[in-house]
Amino acid sequence: MDIYNDIACLKGVGPKTTDILKKCCVFNILDLLLYFPRDYDVISSCGSLSDEKNVGKVIINCRVIKIDKDVRTKNGKVISTVVFDDGSSLFKGKWFNQPYMKNYFKVNCDYTIMGKLQEFRGDTSIINPTIVKGKASMESKEKIIPKYPLKSGITNGLIMKLIDQVLKDIVIEENLPEWITNKYKLCSLDKAVRVIHNPSNLEELNQAKRRLKFQELFTYSLKILMLKAYFNNNKKGIAFKINNELKELKDRLPYALTNAQNRVIREILIDQKKENPMNRLVQGDVGSGKTIVALIAAFNVIKNGYQAVIMAPTEILANQHYLEAERLFSDFNVKVKLLCGSTTQKNKEQIKEDLREGNIDLIIGTHALIEDNVEFKNIGIVVTDEQHRFGVMQRSKLTNKGKNLDTLVMTATPIPRTLSLYLYGDLDVSIIDELPPGRQKIETHYIKEDLKYKAYNFAVEEIKKGRQVYVVCPLVEENEELDLSSVENLYNELKSEYFMDIPVDILHGKMPPKAKDEIMSRFKDGETKVIISTTVIEVGINVPNATLMIIENAERFGLAQLHQLRGRVGRGKHKSYCILVANIKNDIIRKRMEIMKSSNDGFFIAEQDLKIRGAGEIFGFRQHGEGGLILSDVVEDIGILKAANLEAKKLIESNSEIDIKIKNEIFRKIEQNSKFICFN
Ligand code: ADP
Ligand code: MG
Repeated sequence: MDIYNDIACLKGVGPKTTDILKKCCVFNILDLLLYFPRDYDVISSCGSLSDEKNVGKVIINCRVIKIDKDVRTKNGKVISTVVFDDGSSLFKGKWFNQPYMKNYFKVNCDYTIMGKLQEFRGDTSIINPTIVKGKASMESKEKIIPKYPLKSGITNGLIMKLIDQVLKDIVIEENLPEWITNKYKLCSLDKAVRVIHNPSNLEELNQAKRRLKFQELFTYSLKILMLKAYFNNNKKGIAFKINNELKELKDRLPYALTNAQNRVIREILIDQKKENPMNRLVQGDVGSGKTIVALIAAFNVIKNGYQAVIMAPTEILANQHYLEAERLFSDFNVKVKLLCGSTTQKNKEQIKEDLREGNIDLIIGTHALIEDNVEFKNIGIVVTDEQHRFGVMQRSKLTNKGKNLDTLVMTATPIPRTLSLYLYGDLDVSIIDELPPGRQKIETHYIKEDLKYKAYNFAVEEIKKGRQVYVVCPLVEENEELDLSSVENLYNELKSEYFMDIPVDILHGKMPPKAKDEIMSRFKDGETKVIISTTVIEVGINVPNATLMIIENAERFGLAQLHQLRGRVGRGKHKSYCILVANIKNDIIRKRMEIMKSSNDGFFIAEQDLKIRGAGEIFGFRQHGEGGLILSDVVEDIGILKAANLEAKKLIESNSEIDIKIKNEIFRKIEQNSKFICFN
């Protein structure tokens, strides 16, 4: 069996299961091996049944004595019962409304049964037990059962069985150099993968996790170092001059730049003057005015005779930057174009040609800019906005389109300096720690779902006063169709209950940009009073008359994201509000909502969120798989990250033959964008 074999090659995996596994991003054997449990059940094995009643979960080896006829209760439930013997006494397994479960058993065969023992109408029973065919070895007192992330149609038992099948048939080759595994006493890759799926004790499990976290963070560090090496190899960059027109551009702005903006622009211009390429990260809270900083940086490069690129994560945002750039540069003879996924084929071809010929000075777009056939005459600067949404690899793909160019990365997610060192390699960091004057605090409240009518009644009041309202609902998984239906359902609900006579629009990520534009300009002109939307409005909307934002299922958002969303109101002279409608099912959620209510400081909020939730989720590594960090949390595991980073550096510098072999192999795999590095 090869780890790159399709998952369909496994016994028991038909077309239906294949489809569901694909939804879990399991396509081949390797994906399956990397489908790590999200948690474990620790179960004590049961000596004698009679001692163990009502003591929590147990695991019992037993034999089937008989399978009873199903019984139907008065209220229509079907109860199926199987009688087991554990060698000393009898007990029953019971299932409600799952008559097919009993078909799994054969009389006189052995099974391992797991569940909570209880007295049930005079019988000792386990309701809805977990079952495995055959006898489990009971040497240890504890049994640790993995709990996998599941989607409907997939059971924990199925994943366990499939992984078992694979591990019987495969040896995973070691891929770390021996000097590293020895130094950190890391177990072999093969052992780690086996143990993480089937640990016999907690100590062993922790060792396996440590090894795999090291693996992830080591690979991640190598990627970062590759980028760094790329920059170092091309040390000599372009020494730009400070152009005279820069002052005129600044003078023409409709506002005065803040001190923080001026400081960051200065830092950027100093970089631009230097011979070596700029490599700078700009952090600044939502609304701190990062766009103008990026445009000024691009302007100076353009006036030096080079092209500039600004890449944004969404079309709406790209479009907004485009409009702002056109306005700003209209009197300065700068040719600006927009390139997105939805740009018509004809326009795309024209734009690509113009880019090659050097007829375009500034190109703004989405990841469509990364495509291989987008070529430039001479890029001088690449700006990526909201960097954490792009992978390291995507970023490097863009920088590879030019020579020795400057890079500027903009983010509203504050990253602690210690961490950014490891996450972004050698990026220099600038911080815009000041908002433009006149911004007001947005009054924030959170309410439980059953009180949400209050929020919408308040919305109607605001609209009567002439104001406008955003309603946001979360993305449903990563599925555009489901998203649309969730927005549409909300629309129907709100339209019939609160907004009968009020013009309402829906905004959705799947819409063509032209439709989005129309909806946005209707809202801007005050024709529509409410926009119901998924998170697409997070970035890129500026309507000063909008004073209320209602966020549905607020518990599903990261705090940094809630804060960004909230930043869409409070942009005009009227008092603004944000109401978070949340399903407050535990203290953590209440705590997070409380933070949103009490603070308007994006950096503070993100820091708190970091503490509560861990970095993985905030930076979106887990969702987007940046660097393949599945197990590691860059905050919690900073110790491992440091060690991995150190050793990755040594490996890069090492000239020993075996290290070179390993290094080349790793680089090859990284280039293929594989999530895990395996040498077979
Ligand atoms: P972000 O940092 O979130 O990307 P933007 O660049 O979108 O922020 O700026 C938010 C708004 O603030 C824009 O409408 C922009 O024109 C405005 N703005 C930027 N800088 C200033 C300033 N110094 N004074 C007043 N308004 C500003
Ligand atoms: Mg921005």
